[in-house]
Amino acid sequence: MPDPRADTSSETFGRFFLPGPTEVHPAVLQAQARPMIGHRGPAVEDLMGRLQDGLKLVFRTERPVFVSTSSATGMMEAGARNGIGKRLLALVNGAFSDRFAKIAESCGKQVDRLEVSWGQVHDPSAVEEKLESGDYDAVTIVHSETSTGALNRVAEVAGVVGRRDDTLLLVDSVSGLGGADVRTDEWGLDWVLTGTQKALAVPPGLAFGVASESMMERAATLPDRGTYFDLEKFAAKIGKNQTPNTPAVSLMYALDVQLQRIREEGLDGRLDRHEQMARVCWAWVDRMREGEGLDLRVLVEDPAHRSPTVTCILLPEGLSGVNIVSAMREKGFIIGTGYGKMKQEAIRIGHMGDHTVDELEQLLSVLAETLTEATTTTTHA
Ligand SMILES: *Cc1c(COP(=O)(O)O)cnc(C)c1O
Repeated sequence: MPDPRADTSSETFGRFFLPGPTEVHPAVLQAQARPMIGHRGPAVEDLMGRLQDGLKLVFRTERPVFVSTSSATGMMEAGARNGIGKRLLALVNGAFSDRFAKIAESCGKQVDRLEVSWGQVHDPSAVEEKLESGDYDAVTIVHSETSTGALNRVAEVAGVVGRRDDTLLLVDSVSGLGGADVRTDEWGLDWVLTGTQKALAVPPGLAFGVASESMMERAATLPDRGTYFDLEKFAAKIGKNQTPNTPAVSLMYALDVQLQRIREEGLDGRLDRHEQMARVCWAWVDRMREGEGLDLRVLVEDPAHRSPTVTCILLPEGLSGVNIVSAMREKGFIIGTGYGKMKQEAIRIGHMGDHTVDELEQLLSVLAETLTEATTTTTHA
């Protein structure tokens, strides 16, 4: 069967709700078809200058935004190589925060984990207590845990970490930035990273990071920063609006168009839209449980700790996440299964990027129908 999305007209937009990569607007896709330019010289410098303006706006920073041709994992590795000296405290509450710890270990760093269960967020006072040992000079945290839909209290954790002179806070906001508020400068974050393919809704392949002055000072003291993710190399080129190596120019074209679209909507408008989509999704779960007798639950119990970009929904006993996802695919709608160990017991909806409340409501009505059909089949089997 031909993929209906091969036709990139707007009518087919609005059915792809994976929590990454997310659906890309046709205008953004088409921007990639422009001819090449060299990666040194005025053409790329103009383009990069425009990208810097837009990226600073979404990161809410005055610092330069490093542009890496890699997926977001590359900028996680950059955080580890350039930001961790003696020992890392890794805040773990899901698969991606655990990956952050593993990346640091793979770069030869000493790592301790502070873990809470999937669906929970970290308590800033517990972090503060851990830091009192004086053992750590860096902390990693995942803002929006895409595996669970939990939204960590980054601003408060930053307050706690910021009270210690020598400790840096490294933040993965891959499924946050562009959909959940991130205030890089105001919150005093030392390293904030994201990728193109989540809430920013650009095809995968570029990643971004902002380093505080303290982070750059730390980097200068660390050996073994490697080459590709050495922040001093990024810093040396960004003043000229260039990158250390050949960047994915086509993706930069796409990003240019998308940043313009974000400006037109306004960042605050974009964040509001995400908040509204999330609330619609959570209210639907409650309605299904209380009105339709389908035992659906949002994995993250406290609404204050839920991400506005992704919701993980626990399924009733007997239903399979994998089967629901494939039944939805048959109907032309793409959602995610639970992540990793939760593959069967849950589904995930990525209500992020360029989707609207209307599109989400359409998805949820098809999902309601699919869940009801699956329940009937299960109980009669
Ligand atoms: C998707 C994701 C990543 C990994 O991103 P890649 O672009 O696949 O390297 C890391 N952290 C979080 C929270 C994510 O959602």
